[in-house]
Amino acid sequence: MTTSTPADPLVTRMRPFGTTIFAEMSALAVRTGAVNLGQGFPDTDGPPEMLAAAAEALATGANQYPPLAGIPALRHAIAEHEQRFWGLERDPDSEVVVTAGATEAIAAAILALCEPGDEVVCFEPYYDSYAASITLAGAVRRPVTLRPAETGGRYEFDEAALRAAFGPRTRLALLNTPHNPTGKVFSGEELALIADLCQEHDVFAVTDEVYEHLVFGGEHIPLATLPGMRDRTLRVSSAGKTFSCTGWKVGWATGPARLVSAVQRVKQFLTFVNASPLQPAVAVALRLPDAYFTEFNARMRANRDRLTAGLLDAGFGVFPSDGTYFVTADIRPLGGTDGIEFCRALPARSGVVAVPTQVFYDHQDAGRHLIRFAFCKRPEVIDEAVRRLKGQA
Ligand SMILES: *Cc1c(COP(=O)(O)O)cnc(C)c1O
Repeated sequence: MTTSTPADPLVTRMRPFGTTIFAEMSALAVRTGAVNLGQGFPDTDGPPEMLAAAAEALATGANQYPPLAGIPALRHAIAEHEQRFWGLERDPDSEVVVTAGATEAIAAAILALCEPGDEVVCFEPYYDSYAASITLAGAVRRPVTLRPAETGGRYEFDEAALRAAFGPRTRLALLNTPHNPTGKVFSGEELALIADLCQEHDVFAVTDEVYEHLVFGGEHIPLATLPGMRDRTLRVSSAGKTFSCTGWKVGWATGPARLVSAVQRVKQFLTFVNASPLQPAVAVALRLPDAYFTEFNARMRANRDRLTAGLLDAGFGVFPSDGTYFVTADIRPLGGTDGIEFCRALPARSGVVAVPTQVFYDHQDAGRHLIRFAFCKRPEVIDEAVRRLKGQA
């Protein structure tokens, strides 16, 4: 007897999604011994107080299921942190939920809020999990393209394109600021326009603010702080980027109780809970004095300056980065035309790994010549990468 199985076990809607570019490029880095400025993870550890608190929690029995919404100490610390830095008042019992990284918070929010066919307005290039989560929900993305300005090179969008992206099927706007991969920090004026459109079309906003403490130019303004937005905005952040612990996957969502409870409804069937010994440690980190946050910011700003100068020296076109872990570069001055080809060849050519940003666009032509470098690395690692890119290694 012969048995047959369906040819491709994967559901149709997920077939366009291959292996993430980060996995491909990080594997390439390991295989070739290249300096990995592709994936955005720091190569130094986070605050020692946080690491000690995690070790202590692990050794003293914090190893079973925490409460669904997260341990009270962490929910209180999240609420205090939002009050301290952004002036947002949150009830730790009903307006905060701890998640398995920002990624789960965003996925759960989209799955909780979108019916099949609903539209999500976002900006491209977008963080790659957005497209997958929107697709899994059966929703439709309406990306608005960010392009480097002719003068100055900061990424901007066309107001008319943003207005046109909103329509009768829009359910939510998904906004990432500071923005990965472009390093764009949305201005007060841009946020006011987004806020107006959300209210005019009566839609929700989900904001991904994982780089909230990594702004080097301009200022970080949570969309939730704009008039009329608190009640319709779910704010997402995470410990990973702020405390150099990207492997911990401790994130959170805050917002009005009805949005937080919708997220929790879905989240309980995705992971239920996570990282119980890490939760008290993140509570410690969130309560660190302001000095931690300013020193961390200053260190990353110096890294940004170092890498930006080095990339210019190596002949790239470089766009100003006002925040995040990243700077984007134009490969055309070096004779490149396609970022994917360029990045696949770069380890052999120069011994460095970068990420092509075109994979984060629906309109891939807009990003074909752009690649992203991470500067969340030790200065000597950045210097070594630059030496290699200049052909001096
Ligand atoms: C890293 C990153 C995330 C993922 O955060 P986790 O807490 O690791 O899930 C989400 N959004 C953006 C823009 C990121 O860069």
